[in-house]
Amino acid sequence: MSGENISPPWREQELSLQAVKEKYSDLSPFIILKIDVQRRGAKITRRALDAINPEKDAAFYRGINLESKGVIPYGFLLRDGTSVLCTIEDEAETSFKRFREPYTIDLVNGRPALTDQGEFIDEIYYLPNPHFTNKVTTRGTPMWHVLMSRPQRMDINLYQTCDFWKLAGMNCKYCVAGTTFNSTKGEKAEIVNLDDVEEAVVEALKQPGRYRSVFFCSGSMLGGAEPQDDEVNLYIEMLQRVGKYFRDKKVMSQIVATAFTEKQLRRLHNETMLCGYTADLEVLNEEVFNWVCPGKAKYIGYQGWKERLFKAAEIFGPGSVSTGVVSGVEMVEPQGFKSEEEALEKCLAEAEDLAKHGVTVSQQIYHLEQGSVFQHKKTATLDYLTAFAKGIDQISRRYNLECLCDDYRTCGNHPSGDLARIWQGGKECR
Ligand code: SF4
Repeated sequence: MSGENISPPWREQELSLQAVKEKYSDLSPFIILKIDVQRRGAKITRRALDAINPEKDAAFYRGINLESKGVIPYGFLLRDGTSVLCTIEDEAETSFKRFREPYTIDLVNGRPALTDQGEFIDEIYYLPNPHFTNKVTTRGTPMWHVLMSRPQRMDINLYQTCDFWKLAGMNCKYCVAGTTFNSTKGEKAEIVNLDDVEEAVVEALKQPGRYRSVFFCSGSMLGGAEPQDDEVNLYIEMLQRVGKYFRDKKVMSQIVATAFTEKQLRRLHNETMLCGYTADLEVLNEEVFNWVCPGKAKYIGYQGWKERLFKAAEIFGPGSVSTGVVSGVEMVEPQGFKSEEEALEKCLAEAEDLAKHGVTVSQQIYHLEQGSVFQHKKTATLDYLTAFAKGIDQISRRYNLECLCDDYRTCGNHPSGDLARIWQGGKECR
């Protein structure tokens, strides 16, 4: 398998972290480091794990694509406050070999730090533990099972698997939702208990000043009176339940969901407090999308997905609708782009078309996860991913699109969105 034969060749063939920082000297070096860590992942040493204080550091999590196995962080902050959410594995437990070896989280002078090949890269700071972590609901469910916490956001994953994983060959090829769900051997419910969620949200809100947004995500649900109605109904019920705790819509709310019909979008808009809607197109090219996301292609289609995003932007307003892309997956062999230049040109042209219709693109970084169809594939170069981030940022500026529901303040996961931190007022900058 190609992925078994990991480095050193890629280090010799591609621009290094330092070289990319120098090439893109107009971008924050912290964001470039974040891209590299997200692309390669991280492993954590035993001594670094032993130094984690689970009373203070966030170390337990459960979501669609992730499940903590013991005390282990699911992200960290860099010195400038950039948040890095990435796959972190226990060095002693993992045997997964990927195309590029991960960074290491270790202790340097007694402090957690990123290292690479034994070299110090930078200090890191674990995400702060939310106060509700050790609480259980009246049903006895640990609250962290139904509510994750970023520094500023509540994350609630409602449907913890995906219908595309139940249909042979239909799941997105980089995804591990089905593998993650199956690994819990029935311990994890397909749909979280909504009473548990409501209780956890109430408890979380007792921590003063922590949250500026609440976020819901689910795997795709295809069923219902009309296709996807089950998913829409689930969101509406949950949003109505928690909406009463957020008076006057003074908190950002977002769902990351399937691309819904106009009727379904209007229901979400009219019947709930929802401010922001995201439906992930994943790949900004129809041919590669059809290969990478066969379920989405079959049930909605690339053009259909785009049309629904355009309609969503009409309903929720420009800048309130975004689409996530798994940046770099468009380069996967054999059906991805053959050159980085062509990929950038075509994908950014698609991003521009989305921007013209009021839809922003949120860049997620393609990385390798054990249990995905693509687990042994090659990931994209840091140079390419940085150019992609810059291209998305420039488009957002040209169209004066600032996606408040999915930006560095509310989400913090997307390098392209991080670049908006230095916002210069729209069209004229850069
Ligand atoms: S829609 Fe695709 S990426 Fe999302 S959970 Fe389902 S298979 Fe995974």
